[in-house]
Amino acid sequence: MEIALLQIKNLKTYFFQHNDLFSKLLGQKQNIIRAVDGVSLDIKKGRTCGLVGESGCGKSTLAQSIFRLVDPLEGKILYKDQDVLKMNEKTLRVFRHRIHFIFQDQFGCLNPRMTAGQLIAEPLANYKSSNHKNEDSAQHVFDLLNAVNLDYQDALKFPHEFSGGQARRISIARAIALDPEFIVADEPTSGLDISTAATILNLLKDLQERLDVTYLWVSHDLSQVKYMTDDIAIMYLGKIVETGKTVDVFENLAHPYSQALVSAIPHVRATNRMKKIVLRGEVPSSLNPPRGCRFHTRCPYSFKRCEEEEPQLIDLGSEHFAACHLHSP
Ligand code: SF4
Repeated sequence: MEIALLQIKNLKTYFFQHNDLFSKLLGQKQNIIRAVDGVSLDIKKGRTCGLVGESGCGKSTLAQSIFRLVDPLEGKILYKDQDVLKMNEKTLRVFRHRIHFIFQDQFGCLNPRMTAGQLIAEPLANYKSSNHKNEDSAQHVFDLLNAVNLDYQDALKFPHEFSGGQARRISIARAIALDPEFIVADEPTSGLDISTAATILNLLKDLQERLDVTYLWVSHDLSQVKYMTDDIAIMYLGKIVETGKTVDVFENLAHPYSQALVSAIPHVRATNRMKKIVLRGEVPSSLNPPRGCRFHTRCPYSFKRCEEEEPQLIDLGSEHFAACHLHSP
């Protein structure tokens, strides 16, 4: 049985709209956006966990909550028996030394005034010990450029001199600079053409084998998730609706939302017999999610109980869980 590197327990991250003094004076009603609403998930060591769902389902907010880039309201994130949400500045700094985030926008996350060498050296400088020599850092930068298949001469170039794929490689070099245990890759190939995306995927797979790093892979691209991940969690309106080993989930899709997502992509469908499921309506707002099952307004199998009672994740065996009354006792 695999060990969990991170355990997320009943995590809630809400955003409050019209919570300021001016809104109060102008009589605006406070709105609550339930971006992540009671998510529990184990991210297993040395594996890749895919986090999937449409835009606005809460997957990126969940990833940012782990890093405390946003502040969750409730819940726990356990890392080596410590709750990340209760860490003080000092412990949080140690935690952030061991984890890294690859952001979606490959150019936006690179300071345009710094060369690639300076950008890659930055995390090393932030965490280096007092007896660390500058020559060691420079050699480390060259090694990292080499690890992501860039030339050492590239250390002198600025971000605008690189293609999208090369800029992504610089982000990856920064991500692995401190030998992290855990990397969150948020849509790591967005904006890249298919062949460049494929080389980035293979690079990240290769690095995982060499460095034994754990990935949280945030994506809406199911074919990529199927190829890259060992485990998967599918989110809808702030909740996980299905989770398990990727191979089991794709072979036996248990939640109607997962079925609809997969059915929309012909080459990802488990069998050719699977027909495309067209969902009715739009995704409801997380300002005012439907009662009962949040998917009931669009689900082709919805029945009375779905409108009244929220389904919980049910164990279908072999660590495969789905939140749907079709599987409830
Ligand atoms: Fe559909 Fe009901 Fe299952 Fe929700 S609980 S997914 S509405 S069948």
